[in-house]
Amino acid sequence: MRVRHLENDTIINVAQLLKAPVGTERYFTVHLDRLALDSDLEGSDVDASVRLLRTSNGILATGELRVSAHLTCVRCLAEFDSRYSETFEAEYWPTVDVLTGLPLPEPEDEEIFTIDKNHHLDLHELLRQYAILALPTYPVCGPSCPGPESLWKPEEEVVDARLAALQALLDERA
Ligand SMILES: [Zn+2]
Repeated sequence: MRVRHLENDTIINVAQLLKAPVGTERYFTVHLDRLALDSDLEGSDVDASVRLLRTSNGILATGELRVSAHLTCVRCLAEFDSRYSETFEAEYWPTVDVLTGLPLPEPEDEEIFTIDKNHHLDLHELLRQYAILALPTYPVCGPSCPGPESLWKPEEEVVDARLAALQALLDERA
């Protein structure tokens, strides 16, 4: 099985694959030093394995990615680095017919990615979306997280006057 490697690159020319019979597969590995996930969030050392499968509509991309991220613990607010993984599956549809060059209707489903008129399939947005999904919604630094207690001093015990009175009453009866 031939696997092509993309280093800090996410664009694959799929002209030949689009001309191939339905069921034809291509395999790729991708490494990205950095991947901007959001305006203030960046992933690093993204590693992905990708299978492209020719379908009747276009190309189905399936695979798995791993991404490192520098996150802030929601419990103790410490910053920490961790690595996460996620599997993905996404459809790519061509925007022009690979044989005639004529434009094809755009997919109405927003979850479907498109292959540009030069038959370039770009994995960037797919990897960005799934790298975000790989990250925990509520990141915690680890099992030894000191917890929110480390953020503030414990409040002084509030003595409820009514409870104290009740206790005195019970003591009297005893
Ligand atoms: Zn923590």
